[in-house]
Amino acid sequence: MSNNIDWKNLSFGYIKTDVNVRSYYRNGKWGQIEATSSEEITMHMAATCLHYGQAAFEGMKAFMGKDGKIRLFRWRENWKRLASSSRGILMAEVPEDIFKEAIDRVVLENKHFIPPYGTGGSLYIRPLLIGTGARVGVSPADEYLFMVFVTPVGPYFKEGFKPVKMQLVRDYDRAAPLGTGNIKVGGNYAASLRAGERAKGEGFAAPIFLEAKEKKYIDEAGPANFYGIKNNTYVTPESASILPSITNMSLRTLAEDLGLKVERRHITVEELATFEEAGACGTAAVISPIGEIHDRDTGDIYKISKDGNPGPWSEKLFKTLQGIQYGEVEDKFNWCDIVE
Ligand SMILES: *Cc1c(COP(=O)(O)O)cnc(C)c1O
Repeated sequence: MSNNIDWKNLSFGYIKTDVNVRSYYRNGKWGQIEATSSEEITMHMAATCLHYGQAAFEGMKAFMGKDGKIRLFRWRENWKRLASSSRGILMAEVPEDIFKEAIDRVVLENKHFIPPYGTGGSLYIRPLLIGTGARVGVSPADEYLFMVFVTPVGPYFKEGFKPVKMQLVRDYDRAAPLGTGNIKVGGNYAASLRAGERAKGEGFAAPIFLEAKEKKYIDEAGPANFYGIKNNTYVTPESASILPSITNMSLRTLAEDLGLKVERRHITVEELATFEEAGACGTAAVISPIGEIHDRDTGDIYKISKDGNPGPWSEKLFKTLQGIQYGEVEDKFNWCDIVE
């Protein structure tokens, strides 16, 4: 029931909503979208998602706008990325129309779970695509399940937009240069769990992974992309093992629009010392400003925020992007679609 949700104290966890939606791929075809109130799925014990990692997902959000309209942020980019993930691990691709219909339906049927405007919350949308066909030998499944569930989430920063500490590591890699780092598959998360839990246990928000081959360049900031800002330039790593973040893509556009130069190139560990601002970006937080980066091996500490506050550019980028999502700032790049 959504009428007893305490919107002001929502965390970033799971809350049951009324329905989730599903479509099954069988005999080479996607079936009708079905809505169900069940939170469970039944599948064969030899399903490829369980043994061979045929599982990809997306993360996106719907927002209750200032004008009372429901805005979906850049959904087509999530659809494209899911298609790219599907090709990457040989799963059936979800057609654009099925993807959009599923999103619209799950959002509209759970409309009263969208946090009201002004609470800073949003409806987190989780599309999931898994291989359900049974296989014992290693090969792709012949059957797939595409499903989408939603859950209301609160603002990521309950104590305000404050810089976090991150831990640079070399003894774990999230992804290999020619592996699956550039697609959003479950296996990448499994590979990053050990470094992630250790970083948290040692007092950091997330590990920073280096590009796995050279071990010289910044790759990702945990489950988010990295950017640094200096000399009026927004710099973000170029690498084959980075997940192409839609938030980062949007921030690059906004940065340019706000008058910054934008560079996508290698960022060495030493260069961290030169940034005036840095952040991790993704759908969940939009931006997590990075205050300090501790090198776990050398003990070097890169102090990026001098006064414990996020930098002015990060703040401006964060406010502009959120403003567009809530319908407070003109959507001049046509990033939002109204769900009705
Ligand atoms: C999902 C994800 C991101 C962020 O992508 P967005 O599209 O901005 O949400 C960044 N890095 C990794 C590893 C991810 O899985």
